[in-house]
Amino acid sequence: MPIQILSDVVAAQIAAGEVVERPASVVKELIENALDAGAHAIRVEAEAGGRRLIRITDDGSGIPSHEAELAFARHATSKLQTIHDLDHIQTLGFRGEALASIAAVAQVTLLTRAAPENAGTYLHIEGGHLVERRGAGTPVGTALTIENLFFNTPARLKFMKADSTERRHIDTIVTRYAMAYPQVRFTLAQDGRVTFSTSGNGDLADVLVEALGIETMRDMIEVTPLDPHRPDLPPIRVYGYSGLPQLSRNTRSHIILFVNGRHIQDNGLGYAVSQAYHTLMPADRYPVAVLMIELAPEDVDVNVHPTKAEVRFRAPDAVFSAVQRAVRRAVIAQAPIPTMTPPPLTDPLQESRLTASYSPSWDNTAAPIEARPAAPSVHMPAQLDLDLPVYDSGRYAQQMESAQRLRTPDPAPQSQTFQQRPRTLPPLRVVGQIAATYIVAEGPAGMYLVDQHAAHERILYEQFMREQATQQPMKQHMLETTTVEVTADSARLIEENLPLLASIGFDLELFGNNTFRVQAMPEILARQSPGEALVTILGDLEKGDPLGASTLEAQIVLRVCKAAAVKAGQILSYDEMQGMLRQLERCEFPRTCPHGRPTMIHLSADQLAKEFGRI
Ligand code: ADP
Ligand code: MG
Repeated sequence: MPIQILSDVVAAQIAAGEVVERPASVVKELIENALDAGAHAIRVEAEAGGRRLIRITDDGSGIPSHEAELAFARHATSKLQTIHDLDHIQTLGFRGEALASIAAVAQVTLLTRAAPENAGTYLHIEGGHLVERRGAGTPVGTALTIENLFFNTPARLKFMKADSTERRHIDTIVTRYAMAYPQVRFTLAQDGRVTFSTSGNGDLADVLVEALGIETMRDMIEVTPLDPHRPDLPPIRVYGYSGLPQLSRNTRSHIILFVNGRHIQDNGLGYAVSQAYHTLMPADRYPVAVLMIELAPEDVDVNVHPTKAEVRFRAPDAVFSAVQRAVRRAVIAQAPIPTMTPPPLTDPLQESRLTASYSPSWDNTAAPIEARPAAPSVHMPAQLDLDLPVYDSGRYAQQMESAQRLRTPDPAPQSQTFQQRPRTLPPLRVVGQIAATYIVAEGPAGMYLVDQHAAHERILYEQFMREQATQQPMKQHMLETTTVEVTADSARLIEENLPLLASIGFDLELFGNNTFRVQAMPEILARQSPGEALVTILGDLEKGDPLGASTLEAQIVLRVCKAAAVKAGQILSYDEMQGMLRQLERCEFPRTCPHGRPTMIHLSADQLAKEFGRI
């Protein structure tokens, strides 16, 4: 084929491919034009995923009659004159390509009226050719109707996805612009049904309730701009909403970022948001966030990509750190950083108890709860005490690991038996953690509030007892000689029960006056100081607290489990909590701790409905 210059139409169709990839790209370009025209209300209609029809109606400035045709010419724009204008561009568009591209591959109808003019203009263009022009009565603003997209480019048409896919893309585009422009009233109607709308009251939170749903929005915290980090640099403002750590997703796609009102895709900044959750969220989970980043126009280059989805920053590190710091501060304010002061081991009855104002109703299937007097002296304050001592999060994972090892040297067949054990609770889904003490969970029959310490005690206790029935519990040998001095009474108690303690995993040897050398201790206590663990366990035995256990051995096992279980005040990751519930679901007596205290409070769906006056 000889070299020849392409006809304008063919050139336009090829160029259109860059801008108009799918119906949602048309929606994007036309919304941007409406916003650039200063619209306060934008209505988007789509039929058959935008393939049949897309109509965008705005109340912006409108196009003067004598410029109407020009708007569809390639490289025709009212937003930029010289290349220098690009350095401080304030509008969303500037390339003058969208209308030309769209008109090249569709049937387009323009109905517009500029504010100062008395009458409007009607244009009809098909495949880039003007078919009809006339005057028309219409309110100030612009309505562009795009019909039969790609009607003249069959190759493109072939690559269109199912209507449902295209509908979803349109949804995404419209909600993003609604987020970026909360002061603009957006309405989206797909196939005649309004699927999304905002009030235009300027409140981002209101838009997010519509876009993300009230459930998600409940778990979002506000990110507010920080004071400038480096006063010598131009300020970077970051604000918006970011999810609580428990609101995590398995992809990065729920991190939505805007730069100067433009939605952008930037893996680096997405990573900055994830980084802000370091230690608060498992590494393979991602937060939900909607963040607005504002910086001087000259500090960002938006002309990197035809659809402007990527931008280039003059100081990318500064933007990265601004995003990370703003989110981190907001998240930390809600989820206090764990500190490393381990609380003293306390008696279970002295530990905080949640006293709710309703009386918990127990399932009929619940194991009988041993009647015991209510905790005598401790009263929970009306507000949950958030100053409970907090452990390093992730410690529970290690505790679980040692407990796991305790169960068996070969995890595979054991985990199978774990799965095979009958279920005693319905499957529970973790919703969150309260006061680093209680796990909030949802089950088919309503809400469950689980005491993490009591539940873990129950799990460890049953593991331990199963282990004892089949084999010797795993023990940890001391690397250094450790001696423990105890009172004369305790020494007698230990001496009397050396074989029993040995059967549980304590290898002790009388070393002198009331002093024992600790050679090994139960694996699940491996992370504790041997002296402290032994003293706690024996100390309580001395008090002669029967704890409802029939034998001394059972009493000691109870003590070991209590000392090894996670404490109140320990922040648990979502996976840790879910892992704990999975184990609890297959305990023989999941509803009480080994001392008979409840592990959970159940609020049934009926009860909830009643409390809220729904029935
Ligand atoms: P760009 O937005 O890059 O300037 P477009 O092809 O999208 O290029 O639009 C060309 C021109 O048409 C714009 O510069 C603007 O002057 C005018 N225009 C397009 N849409 C509208 C609208 N909804 N309201 C007012 N003017 C519009
Ligand atoms: Mg444009």
